[in-house]
Amino acid sequence: MQDRQPAGITILGATGSIGVNTLDVVSRHPERFRVVALTAHTDIDTLAAQCRQFQPQYAVMADPAAAEQLEQRLGATAPDVQVLAGSAALVEVAGLPEVDYVMAAIVGAAGLLPSLEAARKGKHVLLANKEALVMSGALFMQAVRDNNAVLLPIDSEHNALLQCMPDRYTTGSVPPGVSSITLTASGGPFRETPASKLMSVTPEQACAHPNWDMGRKISVDSATMMNKGLEVIEAGWLFDLPAASIRVVLHPQSILHSMVEYTDGSVLAQLGNPDMRIPISHALGWPERIVSGAEPLDIAAIGQLQFSAPDLERFPCLGLAFDAWRAGGTAPAILNAVNEVAVQAFLDRQLAFTDIPRAIAWVMERSDVQDAGSLDTVLAADARARERASEYLASISHRVGT
Ligand code: NAD
Ligand code: MG
Repeated sequence: MQDRQPAGITILGATGSIGVNTLDVVSRHPERFRVVALTAHTDIDTLAAQCRQFQPQYAVMADPAAAEQLEQRLGATAPDVQVLAGSAALVEVAGLPEVDYVMAAIVGAAGLLPSLEAARKGKHVLLANKEALVMSGALFMQAVRDNNAVLLPIDSEHNALLQCMPDRYTTGSVPPGVSSITLTASGGPFRETPASKLMSVTPEQACAHPNWDMGRKISVDSATMMNKGLEVIEAGWLFDLPAASIRVVLHPQSILHSMVEYTDGSVLAQLGNPDMRIPISHALGWPERIVSGAEPLDIAAIGQLQFSAPDLERFPCLGLAFDAWRAGGTAPAILNAVNEVAVQAFLDRQLAFTDIPRAIAWVMERSDVQDAGSLDTVLAADARARERASEYLASISHRVGT
């Protein structure tokens, strides 16, 4: 390790929950990592502070006006940082030759093109941006294979699954001897909320996750259980498994992060405190183990681990995602696009919580599923689904404000 040059890393979405946790781990290993580029959407304050601390070569703001302000703000405090703007610059810094690792931690479809670029340039792709894989799994996995990229999942469940896979297993292939995988789900803040009360829950309640401190979009996804639905599709692509081999179980403590069942009846699980620095360190250090900063697990203090079946009636998003994975083609891209629109509308108080799955079902029923073999088809399906989602929102606008 001592004679190795520090590896270059780009962190897409550096100012978010995953980005901040990634920089925390990176700061513990200056001999291993050199920050080449940091990116954000509009959060100038956080990116400026990160630039001063890590002195990257590039700082990218997706929003051009924010980029101008960042440049002024940095001034003499980070003279060597080159500030770039716009979505093309996000793609550029994901593919730079001096970059070995790309943390793909932009939320939503906005992360697709830079995440895909990292795969196309054969990087170590540390994938938190599950929406990118849900939208374009076939293309993404093909890009990983064709360019010898190393795809390492950051999602705690998928990272746990990878850790429980057979020796020398790499993502994108069928794991030998595996009969099923089980994703654990905390159940989110409304795990025990009766159906009659779900209609009136607020964005603040939905974003108050019991175990994890995350961005607002994934927090709402956890509350609807669409997060688990997206993760089913993500797992399908990562581990090349059909819907019949993927299970979901509720586990409110978020200590057991997922499990792999083998044909002989053995079940392997990965456990740890709910701290995203654990999967981030696993992927950054892989195949070695590196310090993450997480507290050791005190299982005696936790005392009990509980498991139960999810309630698909109160949380229809999970079933909708399984349907989309079974349908294949552009169905997951359509599901993801409508979900993004509906979640944003819920956060903007334009849509009731229980209308999120209704919007998705409404658009899915009206959409033709196509083969998702080209990026153009995927992006067109995404755009069309967003239009239809807006039509749905307009059609129920008389109910808004309740
Ligand atoms: P977040 O909202 O905290 O951060 C999102 C980041 O993306 C920010 O840096 C933001 O500036 C950037 N961003 C947002 N919109 C953008 C745009 N249009 N263009 C460019 N950049 C943009 O989100 P998060 O919780 O860190 O989640 C990031 C991704 O990781 C999501 O896909 C989420 O599903 C996944 N993930 C997060 C967690 C977690 O614990 N937070 C766990 C598993 C997976
Ligand atoms: Mg997860």
